[in-house]
Amino acid sequence: MAQHVLVVFPHPDDETFGCGGTIALFTQSGIPVTYVCATLGQMGRNMGKPFFATRESLPHVREAELEKACQVLGIKHLIKLGLRDKMIEFEEPEALTSRFEQIIREVRPSLVLTHYPGYAVHPDHNALGEVTIRAISRLSADERPVVYAHAFARMCQEAIGPPDINNDISAVVDMKLAAIRAHRSQSQLMFGSKSSISRFLEQESFWTYRF
Ligand SMILES: [Zn+2]
Repeated sequence: MAQHVLVVFPHPDDETFGCGGTIALFTQSGIPVTYVCATLGQMGRNMGKPFFATRESLPHVREAELEKACQVLGIKHLIKLGLRDKMIEFEEPEALTSRFEQIIREVRPSLVLTHYPGYAVHPDHNALGEVTIRAISRLSADERPVVYAHAFARMCQEAIGPPDINNDISAVVDMKLAAIRAHRSQSQLMFGSKSSISRFLEQESFWTYRF
């Protein structure tokens, strides 16, 4: 059983779509969750329909959505790193790795959720997953948290096998739905079609990362 969970993703909404149910299961059983969200998704293209955000207001809109989603999911500790959206792969790797090593040493999580580097589609996902894994690999084996890596690239199962963690999230599906709704600028259009939302509401799968 995890004692403290650290979630590391680049964009507001990554936590909700990929593992909102898993986070809710932890917080519902009293396990504290800290979320490091690296950007405010300010380069996103969805501005609402009809528009309720502009290029200038989007980071503020998404920040408010992120805070609301965290509240819904029971995340009490949110760290906003303020990196630039779509630019994480261009950050100086050593500086960013040290920053994460420091965060991990302070939070002392027993479990980390992040993207599986190389199998998480978006360059920001892959770059931040890689930084997180690199920072954790600097800890000695006995202080290293378990890592559940989230992958969703096509054909990823051919490369890394099937996920070993498959969480049934049916008990917290209402919390996940509320968090998806909180990310209104990103999810509003999905609620028009049942199939686009339903694939997020059944099960969440992860690969335990092998160091
Ligand atoms: Zn993302």
